Amino acid sequence: MQFTDLKSQYAALKTSIDERMQRVLDHGQYIMGPEVKELEAALAAFAGTKHCITVASGTEALLIAMMALDLQPGDEVITTPFTFAATVETIVLLGAKPVFVDIEPDTCNIDVAQIEAKITSRTKAILPVSLYGQVADMAGINAIAARHGGIPVIEDAAQSFGAVYQGQRSGALSTFGATSFFPSKPLGCYGDGGALFTDDDALAQAAREIRVHGQSQRYRHTRVGVGGRMDTLQCAVVLGKLERFDWELQRRAELGARYQRLLGEAGIPVVAVRPDRNSVWAQMTVFVERRAELQAALQAQGIPTAVHYPIPLNRQPAYAHRCCPDCTPRADEAAARVLSLPMSADLTEADQDRVVAALAEAVTALR
Ligand SMILES: *Cc1c(COP(=O)(O)O)cnc(C)c1O
Repeated sequence: MQFTDLKSQYAALKTSIDERMQRVLDHGQYIMGPEVKELEAALAAFAGTKHCITVASGTEALLIAMMALDLQPGDEVITTPFTFAATVETIVLLGAKPVFVDIEPDTCNIDVAQIEAKITSRTKAILPVSLYGQVADMAGINAIAARHGGIPVIEDAAQSFGAVYQGQRSGALSTFGATSFFPSKPLGCYGDGGALFTDDDALAQAAREIRVHGQSQRYRHTRVGVGGRMDTLQCAVVLGKLERFDWELQRRAELGARYQRLLGEAGIPVVAVRPDRNSVWAQMTVFVERRAELQAALQAQGIPTAVHYPIPLNRQPAYAHRCCPDCTPRADEAAARVLSLPMSADLTEADQDRVVAALAEAVTALR
């Protein structure tokens, strides 16, 4: 069993992906070729935003969004410590300060009730993460941002692309949405890739320029930028994967609901999805005790698992001295207990049954 079954996905899409990649090899426009524009149009239509800007990775999407917002050294960005490092390293790379807010214990997403107390005159952005595929409380976050003079909001939608929230897609819910096409994300390519979404013309233009070394036209550098383009070949792969993406989202929803039911019957607590939100189940995550022993027991039966994430970022050596490592006890608790199970659109129900049975058995044995 694979943690993320990319082989079955490729088998289902092989003809289309192979053809699309071959076309790129034939026309030879490896950088900013026609597939880049084609994908940006398709993704903007899918997300329902005016602009989509493809970039080299999800990390680059976050970095470019904050550069477009003119983040300066000393500025503060409110975010969660319970996320992948990219969310926070991009803030620090720009000389800004991550201000950590604790999480909701049931969803593991940022706790909106604790955001307002952290806003200062230096708050330049709020950066929620839609963790495990579940959209954060974006309505609550947007309302707070609006109350404080329109603080820009960047949704880290690396795990949630495809999710629907109040009739709109994740990524289209704030000033900027940033997503990743890392192979194992809900919509992935065969290498690195990412995208930014916005309805703001000026920010979109800024992001487009920053992506190519701050050029407004060739060799005219109007601002400081990066080498942040997404390869034409990777855009071709995502175009191929989009053909089946609606089906995959449907399948993920079915498998997610089925996992919730089976795990509930087995008495294993699952990361909750609030009724007013939606998840694409980038990860199927449960709360357990004696996690390392459980992982070993499952691995012995050929069932891979993962931990997202074992240490909150405000306790990591790179960041602990910049913030308050002891201020987010719920993130600490979640980091000690979360365990992610195999999940992808091609997971079979038989394999899913086997995962839940093996987990339930191991939990009972360790009790
Ligand atoms: C994967 C991920 C990123 C970074 O994406 P890359 O494409 O790997 O750079 C950022 N934030 C979150 C929450 C992620 O899961």
